[in-house]
Amino acid sequence: MSKYVGRQAVVIGAGMGGLSAARALAEHFEQVVVIENDALPAEAAPRPGTPQCKHVHGLLMGGLRALDSFFPGFEQVLLEAGAVPMRLSSELRYEVPGYDPFPQRDLGLQILCMTRPLIEATVRKKIAQHGNISLRECCKAQELVVGTRSNGKASGKTGDNATEITGVRCAHGDGRVEDIAADFVVDASSHGLLTLNLLGSLGLAAPAETTIGVDIGYCTAMFGIPDDAPTDWKGMVVLPQPPHNRRGAFILPAEGGRWVVTLAGRYGDKPPDDEAGFFAYVKNLRTPTAHNALRSAKRQTGFSRYGLKASRRRHFESVTNFPHGLLPFGDTICRFNPIYGQGMSVAAKEACLLRDLLAGASSEGQGINGLAATFLNEAQKIIETPWSSSAIPDYGDPLTEGPRPPDLEKSLKFGAALFKAAAADPAVHKVMSEVQHLLRPGSAYQNPEIADRIKAAMAAA
Ligand SMILES: Cc1cc2nc3c(=O)[nH]c(=O)nc-3n(C[C@H](O)[C@H](O)[C@H](O)COP(=O)(O)OP(=O)(O)OC[C@H]3O[C@@H](n4cnc5c(N)ncnc54)[C@H](O)[C@@H]3O)c2cc1C
Repeated sequence: MSKYVGRQAVVIGAGMGGLSAARALAEHFEQVVVIENDALPAEAAPRPGTPQCKHVHGLLMGGLRALDSFFPGFEQVLLEAGAVPMRLSSELRYEVPGYDPFPQRDLGLQILCMTRPLIEATVRKKIAQHGNISLRECCKAQELVVGTRSNGKASGKTGDNATEITGVRCAHGDGRVEDIAADFVVDASSHGLLTLNLLGSLGLAAPAETTIGVDIGYCTAMFGIPDDAPTDWKGMVVLPQPPHNRRGAFILPAEGGRWVVTLAGRYGDKPPDDEAGFFAYVKNLRTPTAHNALRSAKRQTGFSRYGLKASRRRHFESVTNFPHGLLPFGDTICRFNPIYGQGMSVAAKEACLLRDLLAGASSEGQGINGLAATFLNEAQKIIETPWSSSAIPDYGDPLTEGPRPPDLEKSLKFGAALFKAAAADPAVHKVMSEVQHLLRPGSAYQNPEIADRIKAAMAAA
């Protein structure tokens, strides 16, 4: 029996979601074709299709482990390329209202800090070692193709009335239009428009969406790390205190002896992209830490801005008769508020889920019909903890738009007690960090030992 569940899979988008998905698919399809609209740089460099790549991109520990499981030695390659190891939380100064800073103790955990282009270029190089994955750059996916397979195995409709996807129509940079045949298509375009257009053209309902109107603005520049940089931290984060102050900042180290400095503000108080405005903004952060650190730092790039109106979760799992052979992935399913640094790691964990489901389908000889539906349901378990752990604090700002959960007050009180307990107790601090870094689910707080300590902090509040 063939070890493959299909001949060819096509992935739309060579961002972090698309590349991770391609790696998972490569074990179970003879060929994997990744279609990318951009020209892809040979080395770590920004590109227009991922404008967010100029901004701070934290890779959570759960994401790093997932990528390391796909690409053995991934962490080592990043280190050799200049990624900066940072101990949690002894080397990260974390300033959150009430704790300026949060206790800096060594939790036995380490992250790597680097630019998003370095992460992506490293994954691309690893992908290039897989003979059955091909990357087609300067190639724009235009439409999903529905119809009869060339091998005659399937027609447009399957027995359960769902449509079958058989390929992707795309336009090459030279104007040629080509239909690329596929037994399975992953939409990792981030916007997901091809999937939404297809659902519309088939007369199917669009997925219900949960949106949280965070209206956030970023402004970023890179600075050389100055000789007089603080010695008590390698990276720092200062969070705002709405409604009094909606300004936050990240200074994280990156390859090449640089700091990525990202300012983040909401609503009417977004950071400007001119020198004087940028530094005036830094001066009016909640604490002076960033301002003091940047005093003698030399700027190496211009300023880049990015705006995001809302976090968005699309419930594809509830669409009746969702087409077979099509899988929305990564940001196409869920686009998080970027300040929590979750998107790449969630995408990498989704790729692990895809790998596991494909392995099951392959060993049981089930084929891939129904796999997307199972994935979309199972992926909710990956998405739930990061979604709720960012939604709750976001809703704490009265200006945040969106339907507040009925138990918001209780959740906010729980969050405050968790922080209090974590500040006082290294064991709670470690569990909180592991949940934030997607190493453990939110249910880890129900472990009786940890739950008792959080309850005690709640009672004392
Ligand atoms: C400002 C900002 C900061 C962020 N910070 C972090 C962070 O700190 N940590 C973190 O983990 N995540 C962060 N994220 C989220 C992270 O960038 C994404 O979650 C992650 O890249 C996974 O997204 P993706 O692969 O689904 O989409 P993307 O990475 O955006 O990739 C989509 C790809 O699809 C291509 N494409 C689109 N349409 C087509 C088409 N029709 N044909 C061919 N190709 C197409 C695009 O060119 C692009 O390459 C941040 C996001 C933003 C906006």
